[in-house]
Amino acid sequence: MVRAFAVIALALALGCSSGDPAGGTGGAAGSGGLAGSGGAAGAAGAGGSSVGGFAGLGFDCGQGDPQADDRPLPKDVTAAAPNLELAATSRRIEVWTPKDSPLLDSEVIDFGQGACEALLFDLDAHDVAQPDLSTRVRIVVVDGATFDQATGAPGAYGVAFSATHSATDAVILPADGLANVVELDDTLAHELTHIVSGRAAPYDAWLPWWLIEGIAVLSGSQFGKKLHDQPTGFVVDWLDVADGSDADLTFQRYGLEDQTQNLGEVGHDQALSGFFIEYLRVKRGIADVQARLLSVMRKVSDGDDFAETFAAELGVPLAQAQADYAQFLDDTVADLAKRYAGTVFE
Ligand SMILES: [Zn+2]
Repeated sequence: MVRAFAVIALALALGCSSGDPAGGTGGAAGSGGLAGSGGAAGAAGAGGSSVGGFAGLGFDCGQGDPQADDRPLPKDVTAAAPNLELAATSRRIEVWTPKDSPLLDSEVIDFGQGACEALLFDLDAHDVAQPDLSTRVRIVVVDGATFDQATGAPGAYGVAFSATHSATDAVILPADGLANVVELDDTLAHELTHIVSGRAAPYDAWLPWWLIEGIAVLSGSQFGKKLHDQPTGFVVDWLDVADGSDADLTFQRYGLEDQTQNLGEVGHDQALSGFFIEYLRVKRGIADVQARLLSVMRKVSDGDDFAETFAAELGVPLAQAQADYAQFLDDTVADLAKRYAGTVFE
């Protein structure tokens, strides 16, 4: 089984590539577990609110009992940033920064609350109850050089290390990305979708990349549309010139193995993947397609056959849905208004 466990999103203007799978197992050097389990909700505001025994910053995020993830952070993260500390916490999200981070308390709190909004949006989009994600999601914010070192993805806006059966998860972001709120919100919704799906489906060897990335691209676009009237920027650039052959190429190249060779191919395949999910939602009227697809992922992770599960959950055979999507793109080559009508990319 050869799977990348780091899922990299949204490299500048082009979209993401699969990450370097180096080191999926083994003991990480790690910080972790500073926040006590259980305990109170984070109060809004900076300073002094005690969350689960943590005396530092707290912010308001979600409902229900939280649980700290007391396992080490992914080792690619701790190897690049060995001096991380818990900067702020809440019911659902922890923010980690290096001890010498120049971020102000107010910036950390603002960031945590924005990340919370993105996470709750993703949970709602995929019909996941908050208690099902009771272990707090850890988000690490580091300087650009440290980010590049941890991810091997210079220029990316963020990276999710998704959970697998043997590894914990975290999202890592470069601090200079916090200034661009439009890209930041899209990135957070995208990366946190990887966290949500990784926890639902830690055994992902039989899940195609077009699905893993497609649902993340769509969430990022939906959240960006909601907050800023701006879906993921690079997607429409590819879709404007796409026809059926682009869909066929994506399903083949972005299948169980990610066979993309460069960021251009990644951007192309992510755009076509995200729009396939949106096609299912809007053009085929499967309003809760994201929840259904997460259910597919969960069941396939548990051992069910992908194509059979897709057909059962979506009500259309996989090959049929893919062929219909390609045909839809061919039919709308000269009518982009029709192509985008009703979608988040309109
Ligand atoms: Zn991604």
